Amino acid sequence: MEEVKNTEERSLNFIEEIIEEDLKNGKYKQVLTRFPPEPNGYLHIGHASSICLNFGLTLKYPGYTNLRFDDTNPVTEDTEYVESIKQDINWLGFAWQHELYASDYFDQLYEYAVTLIKKGLAYIDDSTSEEMAAQKGTPTEPGRNSPYRNRSVDENLDLFTKMKAGAFPDGSKTLRARIDMAHANMLMRDPVLYRIKHAHHHRTGDKWCIYPMYDMAHGQSDSIETITHSICTMEFVPHRELYDWLIEKLEIYPSRQYEFARRNINYTVTSKRKLLQLVNEGYVTGWDDPRMPTISGLRRRGYTPEAIREFCERIGVAKRENMVDVGLLEFCVREHLNKIAFRRMVVFDPVKVVITNYVKKEPGDGKGGEIVSVENNPEDVSTGHREVTFSNEIYIEREDFMEVPPKKFFRLAPGQMVRLKSAYIIKCDEVIKDAAGNITELRCSYIPESHSGNDTSGLKVKGTLHWVNAKDAIEIEVREYDRLFRVENAAAEEGDFKDYINPDSLKTVKAYAEPSLLNASFKDHFQFLRKGYYFLDKDSEGGDFIFNRTVTLKDGWKGEKQ
Ligand code: ATP
Ligand code: MG
Repeated sequence: MEEVKNTEERSLNFIEEIIEEDLKNGKYKQVLTRFPPEPNGYLHIGHASSICLNFGLTLKYPGYTNLRFDDTNPVTEDTEYVESIKQDINWLGFAWQHELYASDYFDQLYEYAVTLIKKGLAYIDDSTSEEMAAQKGTPTEPGRNSPYRNRSVDENLDLFTKMKAGAFPDGSKTLRARIDMAHANMLMRDPVLYRIKHAHHHRTGDKWCIYPMYDMAHGQSDSIETITHSICTMEFVPHRELYDWLIEKLEIYPSRQYEFARRNINYTVTSKRKLLQLVNEGYVTGWDDPRMPTISGLRRRGYTPEAIREFCERIGVAKRENMVDVGLLEFCVREHLNKIAFRRMVVFDPVKVVITNYVKKEPGDGKGGEIVSVENNPEDVSTGHREVTFSNEIYIEREDFMEVPPKKFFRLAPGQMVRLKSAYIIKCDEVIKDAAGNITELRCSYIPESHSGNDTSGLKVKGTLHWVNAKDAIEIEVREYDRLFRVENAAAEEGDFKDYINPDSLKTVKAYAEPSLLNASFKDHFQFLRKGYYFLDKDSEGGDFIFNRTVTLKDGWKGEKQ
């Protein structure tokens, strides 16, 4: 795993400002944060921004970050999700101090609940959820007290013990905080702290049939771990008052909650619940389908952790929610891949070129032809060169030839010259067609003294084409991806968000590649010259070579021109 470095130049975000102030005033000596995923799905790009923020802070300041699974809801959680979350955080380049589970605190949380009951600050309510909703009031009208609100401490303790022991069915009773049914903050109107749920839990098994609500678990878990800065998204702003109330009444370590805006990207959805529907209903092949905005999908598609971290860095930390252009994410990966991708030649829609005056130089492997040396990455000379065979029969892209070219078409045309990448200049002498008029072959001649790097021909040509040797090219499958949704924000459209899925988000094509791609591994990123960036897909097995298009070469994003 690669260490993450901090970018020094940028200005502080508002959470860093708070932290620097706190450290200066001696409020804390170290900064402790946590990343608290609920293991009910795979992590997506929105989570990445929370991960980069939480782990980034403790790389920058003294302290550490815990990974805490928020597994208080037994019904939706699964160990498959736990494993994927750990893998994704590691892959992004971060290391947690402790791997923790809110469910490990169930005994302690139960004790906290008992403390509240003993202090007269919590009671057992027999009201149904409908009755509770009716008592709740509205933002402009106060609520009404539950008829069970004045139960004695002893009765409450007795009922809570019986609840824990399984004496009551689901939904028949709850434990509620006894705060104020006229409170301006609706969440403070006697919120539910514990509910009955006779369900098997992925870690605690059947030990519990009562489970704490989010508000009764999150702040308390923070406090147990002495988290200093508990960072969450804006929808928890109204919860902060309850968070503080519980910490104060329980007299436990005063963790503090800070909120930042959720990050959403256009042309996709970033909600585990919605992503789960796409998986379960077969719109995608799985959580790691390369079209998914999940970390595992992006990884499979060929995104790099560096690119994702750079993206999170650039979108920064805000207080107002907004939609981030997916073009920025593509920009970031393109920038990184340009530096690290091996250049390779792949022809997608081939037309055969026969070089009539080419005399085989070294038959060598029996396929005929000479060896030319091609640079692996002009952005990184340390990657050196590779050898590619050249012969009298090659393929070029059909679109790189035009019989009647417009002005400024610098590629191949009758009588026109073009350079073949790292090889020779050729000239098109004759176009061969079948009975239907389709071009089947281009007869060309080459200029022997025009070899790249040793060109004494004195000829100047404007176009350079990629090509493959027809005699040893390998056939590969390429998966070209487009946006998963037709609209920027499917979740905000009328009707079902799935009605807005792009039916053409995947196109599978065959292509001809230079044989060096036979050595492709999951460590390598490729640029197919003049095409885009590609990455080997996990479906490649038993001699099949399947590549995902990570991103096209062209920058469609216009937002960041400085
Ligand atoms: P989802 O709606 O996708 O299920 P969630 O908030 O329920 O998201 P959690 O597993 O509870 O998912 O999230 C773990 C952490 O990641 C939380 O602190 C949450 O606030 C943060 N987070 C989730 N989605 C985003 C997002 N789109 N942008 C920034 N942070 C996010
Ligand atoms: Mg959640």
